Amino acid sequence: MNEKNNLTIYPLGTEGWIPANGQETICFAFFVGDEMVLLDAGTGVSRLIELSRTIFRHTWPDIKRAHIFVSHYHFDHIVGLFWLRAILKGKSVTVYAPGQTSYGRPAKEILGDFFQKPFSPRPLEEIIPDVTVREVEPPGLNVAIGGRKVKIGVKANPAHSDPSVSFRFDDLFAFVTDTPPEDSTIEFIRGVKVLLHEAYFDSFERYSGEDDTLETHTGGPHAGSFGAGLVAKRAGIQRLYLMHHNPESTMLEALNAAKLVSEHLGIDCRAAADLEEIVITE
Ligand SMILES: [Zn+2]
Ligand SMILES: [Zn+2]
Repeated sequence: MNEKNNLTIYPLGTEGWIPANGQETICFAFFVGDEMVLLDAGTGVSRLIELSRTIFRHTWPDIKRAHIFVSHYHFDHIVGLFWLRAILKGKSVTVYAPGQTSYGRPAKEILGDFFQKPFSPRPLEEIIPDVTVREVEPPGLNVAIGGRKVKIGVKANPAHSDPSVSFRFDDLFAFVTDTPPEDSTIEFIRGVKVLLHEAYFDSFERYSGEDDTLETHTGGPHAGSFGAGLVAKRAGIQRLYLMHHNPESTMLEALNAAKLVSEHLGIDCRAAADLEEIVITE
């Protein structure tokens, strides 16, 4: 966040499930002072190896701490945690993840399952030496990030194939992935400037008007493009980025799906793409 109070979010991975179409799986990054925030830790984390030597090279050495917000534990969202020993060497890390409330078990214990032999040569505490795991549950928590107190809203998404959580960062933006479109999301996100919402398929052919039910634009545990669009529209949010694109579709199809949402719902809907910065003015 700079003096003009612009927040720049770097999409490091915008694809769902499988890295494809030149896009990695879900991970977004932004910086506040000398701290970094990651939203999910999909294969997009791998981009930090190169970015720390290129566009982040001036800020990278000063970064003291990373905050990693994990929506849920599907591999496409957490595999990057395994790589942090190399990528975040020497930095302290806090992982915020759902636990007791969503899964009936502590987040630290669930993460510990992954970092066991023979899947991981070392436990979590050795992969990331200075790590703290914090449970997240609704309605959320306050976190100090880079000297700024940030109110983090948390919403449970029980209808994904395993429960996920959505995050809201002050009144700036909300990050909603791996969930069908839900009425409860509308209240949760109301008042933010930008919404990042998953859209796993183009649901234009099901669209009959702004009164469509959200169920119409639901595909199993995921959202259709107009599901995300209607959630944004009903919450009064003007700028929507579709993400968690279906790897079996092309980016051109994702761009087209977003264009149709813009045209029919009268909001600014775009398909998030890796490394295309999202700038939010406070
Ligand atoms: Zn996913
Ligand atoms: Zn998932």
